[in-house]
Amino acid sequence: MISENLHKIQSELPATVKLLAVSKFQPLEKLLEAYQCGQRRFGENRPQELALKAVQMPQDVEWHFIGHLQTNKLKLVLPYAALVESVDSLHLLESINDWGAVHDRVIPVLLEMHIAAEQSKQGFYEEEVLDILFQAGKYAHVRFCGLMGMASHTDDEEVIRADFTRIASYLDYLRDLFPDLEDFRELSIGMSGDWRIAIACGSTEVRIGSSIFGSRDNH
Ligand SMILES: *Cc1c(COP(=O)(O)O)cnc(C)c1O
Repeated sequence: MISENLHKIQSELPATVKLLAVSKFQPLEKLLEAYQCGQRRFGENRPQELALKAVQMPQDVEWHFIGHLQTNKLKLVLPYAALVESVDSLHLLESINDWGAVHDRVIPVLLEMHIAAEQSKQGFYEEEVLDILFQAGKYAHVRFCGLMGMASHTDDEEVIRADFTRIASYLDYLRDLFPDLEDFRELSIGMSGDWRIAIACGSTEVRIGSSIFGSRDNH
């Protein structure tokens, strides 16, 4: 089942787009099943769960953190995460930079942008991202790798396409403005319901959970 789902998705992904298997709330057996099919990138959104799975899974797994991160949980996430995709506040960014200074590490991050219509969605607005990147030199222990976003919660494909187009254009704009930020090129957009649209809009990574592992109906 998982192998069929993975193969089907992989077969549709352009070579430029990476697949993050979102394994939150899934038991280890399911992650191992995906691992045995060759999947190496996994995404988690709860610090404790990431830390537990990271020590139990094979060491060549690449973990991405995709959830809301409180600064008192950095020690559960930063030792394991290859990429923190969900940096959504200045306070968090500064704390990650401080942690990196103390541990002599440079932490790769994506800045999460608010692109959806809903009030509740987290993330930075365009001007805030701009302010951060103008001061990128302040964050010696952070590597800015691009943007992450979630589209509006709707079945209206045109609305989703508009959300994704906006963040993709903004990434292009930022890359032109900050050519020295060579790593700033990833665009993490697209989930189970909208990843095909995201790819058409320029996604470089899709984050897919339920279409690989089945529903997380206990949550
Ligand atoms: C859960 C989650 C996903 C995956 O959602 P599915 O609809 O199950 O594919 C992607 N991104 C984030 C940030 C998530 O929290």
